[in-house]
Order: sequence, then C-alpha cells, then structure tokens
Amino acid sequence: LSDRLAETFKQLRTKGKLSASDVDGTVREIRRALLDADVSLDVVKEFTARVRERALGDEVNRALNPAQQVVQIVNEELVGILGGQQRRLQFAKNPPTVIMLAGLQGAGKTTLAGKLAKWLVKEGHTPILVAADLQRPNAVTQLQVVGAQAGVPVFAPEPGTGVGDPVKVARDAVAHAERALHDVVIIDTAGRLGVDAEMMKQAANIRKATNPDEVLFVIDAMIGQDAVTTAKAFQEGVDFTGVVLSKLDGDARGGAALSVASVTGRPIIFASTGEGLDDFEPFHPDRMASRILDLGDILSLIEQAQQAFDEEEALKVAEKLATETFTLDDFLKQMQQLRGAGSIKKMLGMLPGAGGLKQQLDNFDEREIVRTEAIIQSMTPAERKNPKLLNGSRRLRIARGSGMTVTDVNQLVQRFEQAAKMMKTVARGGMPQIPGMGPI
Ligand code: GDP
Ligand code: MG
Repeated sequence: LSDRLAETFKQLRTKGKLSASDVDGTVREIRRALLDADVSLDVVKEFTARVRERALGDEVNRALNPAQQVVQIVNEELVGILGGQQRRLQFAKNPPTVIMLAGLQGAGKTTLAGKLAKWLVKEGHTPILVAADLQRPNAVTQLQVVGAQAGVPVFAPEPGTGVGDPVKVARDAVAHAERALHDVVIIDTAGRLGVDAEMMKQAANIRKATNPDEVLFVIDAMIGQDAVTTAKAFQEGVDFTGVVLSKLDGDARGGAALSVASVTGRPIIFASTGEGLDDFEPFHPDRMASRILDLGDILSLIEQAQQAFDEEEALKVAEKLATETFTLDDFLKQMQQLRGAGSIKKMLGMLPGAGGLKQQLDNFDEREIVRTEAIIQSMTPAERKNPKLLNGSRRLRIARGSGMTVTDVNQLVQRFEQAAKMMKTVARGGMPQIPGMGPI
C-alpha cells in the first residue's frame, strides 16, 4: 500500500481545495487496502463514503498534499471507530466485579480467562475463575489448568454430580466470591462452532443471573468476513459491553477489529496475542489503525511534513516581524511628520544648541516630501505593504500615475529600503527617537 500511495502523492499538487479527483484516487486505494485486511464489504463501503464526504468538505491543509491529507482523515476516522482513547475495564463500585466471557468455541475465551486473571493479580486484585462451560467434557479441566498456571482458584461444579447447570454454577460462584472476598469473578462460558440459539440462550441466562459489570465478546481476529454476522448475533443474543480480539499474533491484519467495532459500536478493550498467559495487552486503537492499513510509514511522513511546514511558517512570521512591519505607508507618515518640521526650522536655527537637529532637518527638502507623497499614493495598498511586488512594469505604472520618472520611483524605493533597514536596527537596539517625529 505504501508504494501505491506514494505514487499517488507524486501525481498530486497542493491546490486551494480538496477536489473530488484528489480524494477519489486515495479513497480507492484505502478501499482496496481495507478489503485486503478482511474488513467486511459493507463496513468498507460505509467507511470510505464517510471519509470521502469529510475530505471533500475539508479546507486544504497547506502543509500536506491532498493524498496525505486524505490519509490523515482516514487514520483519524479509523482510530475513532476503533475506540479513540483506550477503554479501561469497568470495576463494580461494590465488589465483586463480575466479568463474563462470550464467543464462539475456539475463539480463545478459556485462554483469555487465564490471561485476564493473571493480569488482574498483577494489578493487585484477587480474582476467581468460574467454569460455566459444561458443554465439552474437558472444558472444566482446561480452565483448572489455566487457573493453576495463573495462580488463581477455579470455581467449578462438584465432580461426579453429572451435567451441571451453568447458570447455577455462575450464580453460586458470585455468592462464593462475596464470602471469600474475591474482588473479581471471571466467568468462562461455552461456545459452539457456529452461532446457535440454545447456546445464545444459555449465555443470556448466565448474564441475567449474574448481572455482570462487563460482558466481553471474544473474537478470533482470523475470522475475516464472518466477523460481522457473528458479532451481530452475539450482540442481539447476549449483548456485550466490550470486545477482545484474540489471535492477533497470526497473519490477520485485524480487519475484524474495524468490522466488529463499527457494526456493534462496542469498544475493543484487550488484544490477545498468543497461547501463553502473558500474551495479552490492553487494546491500542492507534496501533490497530496502523496495522489494518499499514500506515506507519506514511503517517510518520505526514508528521514530518507538517512539522517542517510549521517551522517554515514560524520562520516567515519572525522574518516579517523583523523586516516587513515597516511599510511604505509608515515611510510616508514619517515624511509627512517632517513636513510640519520645516516651518520650525527657522525657529530652531535661532535656538542655541539645536544645530545638530537643524542640520538633520536640512537634509529633507520640502519638494521631496511632495514627490514621495505622489509616488506612494499611486501605489496599491498591497504594493505599499509589500514593496517586493514593485517590478519594472509596476514601477512604470506608478511613475506615470504620479507624473514622475521611473528613476524617481527607483530612488524612493531605495530610500525606503534604507529606512526599513534602519528601522530594524532601531527595533533591535532601541535607538533614541526625536520626540514628536517618530524614529528617524
Ligand atoms: P474457547 O473455546 O473460546 O475457550 O478457546 P480456547 O481458549 O480454548 O482457545 C482455542 C485455541 O486457541 C487454543 O488452542 C488456544 O491455545 C488458542 N489461542 C487462544 N488465544 C490465542 C491467541 O491469542 N493466539 C494464538 N496463537 N492462539 C490462541
Ligand atoms: Mg473454552
């Protein structure tokens, strides 16, 4: 994907507004990449439509080219759907906190129960595991092995009492946890290979009986396009408060994460990344977004481009402050201030000790002020603010408009530039000013 997008970048130049063709090219690549990552088709369609709509309404970010800007939007939307900020596990105000696991057989529930228990112990909790999967003959034993590995007790029906009632086991377990001061109860439940009504009803009954603080839907990241139907079935049948994506250590790009999060609106809380009890971590939406679209390199390029642009802008502003705040308008104003001074020249000549100031004023010819006024007033406001605009043809126009020669205009620009340089020195060093006349 990176190569294809890099190619798209080259073909696009920064323009005033993101156009449909700017956006569509990139959106097409994103669509292909999402399908490659096994995101469900409906989700891809909805997602790309939203990105397209948002991108078209977007002001151009001058730091980025359109393709980069679209990718940035894609990333923001992805992270948003995947849960934005990390979502933490919710604990009950009054312990025990009850966490119920649900999902298809083989999704990774029992393994997760052990991982969760071990992690909770590390966090200072005193969890207990509950074997409410009485469907498969060795399910209880499997949980007991996992519990032993995690160093956490397992609540299970008495052996030899025949097929137990998982709802009763779960209810009894919560009561037991209250007595034995276990602050978290993790209920492992049964799953089938496919969604079936009886299993769903059992899970729903366990939920009703134990009123869990969290119901975690465990889903295999390798499930691909089936993610949507499975997730919807569990949401309708049991409903859940959060999602755990398992087997992320495999090849799966994690498209299931986007599918499940966008069709159920439930946050993904944990990622399971192996068979060992330590292969488990809180879910990071931003990392998953990068994994799904393989955006790592592109995003860091975007970040660099934005940073370089920001620095450039800051430099420009600093330069402007240093040199360009003194405009031809200011220059004219100064000249006009000096005009009034002409009439006091004589007076000054009579004052002892004012000779130096008089000499300065002598350098300004009254007629020169009039010429300067005529020339500057023939300039457009933009030219007055930014004398760099004054090319040959503009100077000719101004000369004609003011009844002067191009040489006059050139001389004035030169004098202005000298004055501007002086202003810079004044601004930095704070040279003394003549009262009432502004800085000279
Ligand atoms: P359950 O039927 O939902 O309880 O699923 P299990 O916990 O029994 O897991 C089914 C199989 O998947 C087992 O062989 C586990 O070792 C394996 N498994 C579970 N989680 C992961 C994981 O995150 N990564 C990998 N590679 N294997 C996993
Ligand atoms: Mg199991």
